[in-house]
This record gives sequence, structure tokens and C-alpha cells, in this order.
Amino acid sequence: MTMTAVHLGMDDIDSPRGGCTTHFASLLVEELTELGASWLDYPNLIRLNPNIPYRTRGNGAVTLRFELEASDVDQVLPRSNLLLKKYLKEDYPNTNPGMVIATGDVPVDLLGFSKLALWRTVPVALARRLVARLALPYIAIGNRRGLIGALSAIGNPLRQDHTYEYIAYRSIELTSRERGVDVDSVFKMNQKYGNRLFSNIDGSAQKILIEPHGPDPVIYGIRGETPLDVIKAADLIQSKQDKERWMVFRTNQGTGAHLVHRVRLSDIRPYMAAVVEGEVATKSKIIEGGHVIFKITDGPTNAECAVYEPTGEFREIATMLIEGDKVSLDVGVRPASRMHGLTLNVEGLRILQLTDEVILVNPICPHCLKRMKSAGKEKGFKCIKCGFKDPQAKKTEIPVERQLKAGRYLPPPRAQRHLTRPMNRMDRRNNGIPNNLVDEWHDP
Ligand SMILES: [Zn+2]
Repeated sequence: MTMTAVHLGMDDIDSPRGGCTTHFASLLVEELTELGASWLDYPNLIRLNPNIPYRTRGNGAVTLRFELEASDVDQVLPRSNLLLKKYLKEDYPNTNPGMVIATGDVPVDLLGFSKLALWRTVPVALARRLVARLALPYIAIGNRRGLIGALSAIGNPLRQDHTYEYIAYRSIELTSRERGVDVDSVFKMNQKYGNRLFSNIDGSAQKILIEPHGPDPVIYGIRGETPLDVIKAADLIQSKQDKERWMVFRTNQGTGAHLVHRVRLSDIRPYMAAVVEGEVATKSKIIEGGHVIFKITDGPTNAECAVYEPTGEFREIATMLIEGDKVSLDVGVRPASRMHGLTLNVEGLRILQLTDEVILVNPICPHCLKRMKSAGKEKGFKCIKCGFKDPQAKKTEIPVERQLKAGRYLPPPRAQRHLTRPMNRMDRRNNGIPNNLVDEWHDP
């Protein structure tokens, strides 16, 4: 019996009743286990460039990696397709599901493709050329955009830093009801597990972040460092709705994987996820809607930066920056519109160097030690008290203590991307593909 390694990538599988790609993947795991799949990895949940306009904020795709008897590999795609048709039930105009199969080692071309999809926009035509050239079996519905995520998910084996998410699902018939996740149980869980988990609560807003709001089958998702951490932590969560199934995903969430490219301001392009470095060129101002706007320069080029209202207290950092401060910004690039030019949406920043801030004050009279008054434009200063005049006197600089400190700043967890490396993961890296899986990583 020869076993073949299979990588089954999928993306954009949403149904009108509120399905989602990870939920579909959990059904498929059941189906493929029946077919005899021996699992090589947890299902991989791969988040891609969060700045893509036609995608939801999450922009997540899934890959299943397993071994199968070589003679059964041909059955994988037809069986997946049957399940997909049952799942979608009808054509749904806003989704473009895609599924792709690769066997053996992950093709090198897919590794490069996947890296690109983390920080750029990738044209559908490129995905179509790739499946054709590598002769990869696929299913693509609608405009075939789902191929991009499916290929990208296969092409990211998560060999470097990664995290885990436990996702609990309700019955798809009950997706219109209230989930009723018990807030206290989430805070207790968070306290018990500390740094073993991340991004499950927002401390400053006293909000829980594990419960989505749309009509999808997810009841909650718990993010953490190991499979056992998230599985055990989930035991502590109470909700009104019952779990119908659950599954653990290995993922690039919380790794900052989209922000590895340092880009000069002159090379910035729409929808990029990039790191830019420069000096603050104009102090910030607050515009309508509570957004904070400022400019930076890297010498030849200036760029407008925006810190949006939902980032809450993060905006205060931006308002304290002054001209000359050296900063490194994590940005998502918004293209120019009729209302504004190309804008760098700031999703994280590092203050590299603070410039000295001074205020200018009138000089002191050498006789009575009081501050003098201006004697008129370019006429120096005069003392009101004793009448002393000094036509050469200039204003003096007094240093002001900066309220900011150099270092790393992020929006609060509620305003972070799925990919954002949160503060409590700053120095943590989970490396390597797991050698074996925990006994129970999904149910049923
Ligand atoms: Zn005087």
C-alpha cells in the first residue's frame, strides 16, 4: 500500500445561510477521515493580505494536509465537490469558492505565490496560470477568485512561527439565534491561561473578542500557543448555544506575517501591507469622524498617514508625535479616491527616535530678572519694569519633556488584524511543523 501526501486548499466557501470556509473544512475532515485519510497536520487556517478590498476583513483560507492510499487520491476532489454542492445549496452571487489539490511535496511555485498573497494583490489570471502549469486538479466557481486563497493556503506550510485556534460551531440551522457566550467565563479563562492564549479579550474596553457577530456557524474561537492550551481553555467557556462540532486549526494568526516587507515611500502601491520608515513631516490633526492624520517623509517622498477612530487610545500616540520624530509604521495602503490621496492606514508603529521638543520664550531682563516684551518686529526686546532695551535679544529655547517613549505601539486588541503580532507574542516564536497531533483535535 503506497501512501500519497495530499494538500487540499480551499477558500471563499460561504453559504447564504451563513456557512464559512473553516466550518466546511470541519465537515470535510469528517468525510476524508471516512475515506481513510491519515492526518499530517492540523487543518491550516491561513490569513492573507488584510487590505484586499473585495475580501472580508478576515481574508482566511484553509488547507487540509493528509496521507491517503495512492489509489484513493482521485476520489478526493469529486467527494469534496459533492459536499460543497450540498453545503452551498444554491448559487450565491457574492462568493467564488475555490478548491485545489496538490500531491507530494508542496510545489515551490506555490510557496512564492503564497508569500506574495500575504502582502500584495494577486491577479486571478496568475492563479489560473499556476494551476494550469502545475496541472493541479481544482474546482472554481464564479469569478474563480477562490483559487487565489486555495493556492495560497497550500503554499504556506507554516514552517516558522504559528499559533492555534479552537473554533466551536453551532448547528447551521441555528445561525440566526443569539450565541450567548458568557463574558465572565471568557475573562476567567483568560486569567487562568495568561500568556498561553492571546487576543481573546480586550482589557481596556473590557470586551470579549472570541464571539463573532455575523450569522455564521462559529460560536466562538479561542486563540493560543499550543493545541492543548486552546482545547483545555475551551472547556471553561459557557454559551447559551450548544457546540455541534469543534476543530483545532494551526494558523498564521498573531504572527505579523503580512508585515515583513520594508518599502520605500516611493514604492508604495495600493492595498500593500508594508513597513515604512521615515520622519514625521507634519504634526497630526484630528479630522471629522475622529480619525488622526499626519504626514511622514523618507527624504524624497512624503506620504499621508491615518490612524482611524476605531483604534481608540492608539490615536493618542499619533497625536503626540511631532515633526522630526523618527518612526517605523506598519501600514495597509488605501488607494487615492476623490476624497483623499493615497493613504497609509497605520496598524502599528515603532518610535525609533524622539526629537527634542522646545518652546520659545521671551528673554529675561538682566536687571530685574523678569521676562521682557517684544519691542516690535525685528527690534528686539524691552523691559516693561525698568525700561531696559536690547535690540539684539532673541527668544530663548526651553526644552520640554516628551510624553512619549521610544518603542512599539499597537492599537488595542479589538482593533487589531487577525495577523497582527500582539504585545504578549512580541518575543514568542513557535517553530516547526508538529511531529504528531494530539489525540483529539476535532469533534465529531
Ligand atoms: Zn528690567
